[in-house]
Amino acid sequence: MHKPRHHMASVLLSCLIGAALLLSIAALQHLFVSHVPLIPRNFVIPVLVGASIGLFIGLYHRRLLQREDRLQEAYHDIWQSAYYDQLTGLPNRTLLLDRLRQAVAHACRHQQTLGVLLLDIDRFKRINESLGHTLGDQLILLVAERISSCIRDSDSVARLGGDEFVLLMPDLKHPDDVALVANKILTAVAQPIELEGQEVFCSCSIGIILAPLDGDDGDTILKHADIAMYKAKDSGGNCYRFYSWYMNQQAVERLAMEANMQRGLERGDFFLHYQPQIDLRSGRIVGVEALLRWQAPNIGPISPELFIPLAEETGFIIPLGEWVLRSACQQAVNWQRQGLPPTRMAVNLSVRQFRQKDLVQTVANVLAETGLKPSLLELELTESCFVERPNEAMAVLHELSRMGVNLSIDDFGTGYSSLAYLKLCPINHLKIAIHFVRDITTNPDDAAIAEAIIAMSHAMGIRVIAEGIETTEQQSFLVNKDCDLAQGFLFARPMPPEKIAPLLAKGESGQSAFSEILSPQPALF
Ligand SMILES: [Mg+2]
Repeated sequence: MHKPRHHMASVLLSCLIGAALLLSIAALQHLFVSHVPLIPRNFVIPVLVGASIGLFIGLYHRRLLQREDRLQEAYHDIWQSAYYDQLTGLPNRTLLLDRLRQAVAHACRHQQTLGVLLLDIDRFKRINESLGHTLGDQLILLVAERISSCIRDSDSVARLGGDEFVLLMPDLKHPDDVALVANKILTAVAQPIELEGQEVFCSCSIGIILAPLDGDDGDTILKHADIAMYKAKDSGGNCYRFYSWYMNQQAVERLAMEANMQRGLERGDFFLHYQPQIDLRSGRIVGVEALLRWQAPNIGPISPELFIPLAEETGFIIPLGEWVLRSACQQAVNWQRQGLPPTRMAVNLSVRQFRQKDLVQTVANVLAETGLKPSLLELELTESCFVERPNEAMAVLHELSRMGVNLSIDDFGTGYSSLAYLKLCPINHLKIAIHFVRDITTNPDDAAIAEAIIAMSHAMGIRVIAEGIETTEQQSFLVNKDCDLAQGFLFARPMPPEKIAPLLAKGESGQSAFSEILSPQPALF
């Protein structure tokens, strides 16, 4: 840290030196040149002149020193902001990469092992949003202190950005040493934190790599540590995971799948199947849900449970989801052109799509391009859409609703919906999660939940769709509990558009497509 110098002392010193110098000259002149005895009058003038010149030189010198100080301060500030994190004062990414490069080179030269730990606070985004950014910053500061308190003198810790920290542990005697430190950090971070009288619990996930074994340059090391950290997050957080070749292979496979998905969309490997939604009273098909399928060449069908989470994670869900929306709307229009009755088309919307700024515009464009009436489109959202920024989510829902688009909440009961928000949502349908429907006739708790969802929805003027109905017992139970609509293998599996058409045609002729199934069933409850 730069310290200001004592400039006034140097000015006074200059005065004294100036005065002493001129006094000496005057004395020499009196003694050797004029031979006039030294008298007080002649003595005072040189002292005053000398002191004035000294003062002038001193002030000028002080100004030079001040300018130099300001330059040093500016240089120091630039250095600080270029290499250190403003909030925690820890080295930042730039300095970390430099230290990492030196540490790896040192480890390679001396055949040592460098431990690199990447720490990320679990669910920090949620903590930050619920506490506010000021308290979020305080939390980061406290976590940084706790991490710093767990390390050896030879280790160094840096803030990579956001809620990510990196710890460098040079000269490891044994990989277990790094695990010991990781455990110590996990325990320290998990201690309750008091922020403005509020007790906050947080935890972190740690990815560990050993250099040069698992990587010998900064970017590779951080990339691999990131993979290991996400492995720890996938395991539920508050734990550490080592990077290994196997984990790297998994990441490579995911990347290959990601590239395949992009090519697949261009090649037309994706297609939609449609599953009917049946009115439980009339047995008529009132809508269909569009379900995405992927048939990869040389691989075969890939389960949506595998590729949709990956598409969501990588952001590929945005173009893919838009393709689904456009194709489904086009299909609904095509059926009408074939003379089939107008059928509501339900399209699933992922959280990432829902948060797109231009979602409303995209939906409006697709409706305009395909010519589908907004009232024939239903967007299925999940409860996760409302967890973060509920007010913004509500505004988007109202905009879509004003356009005339139907909205439903998918898998209801599995997320963290706030009933207060549900009351304000312009929702048309709630879909009871398969999870509750599966054991509805055997598990009294699931039966009670389903019944409560139906009663609550009806009181709020929302219709209920039960998903995953496979048996007539489940169907009878739901009919008895006044559930409105149903979807499931009992009625029809998801099927290609040409197979749905005859079922839709039955509705047109006034017949019930599923009258056989819905013919009086013995009531179980
Ligand atoms: Mg759905």
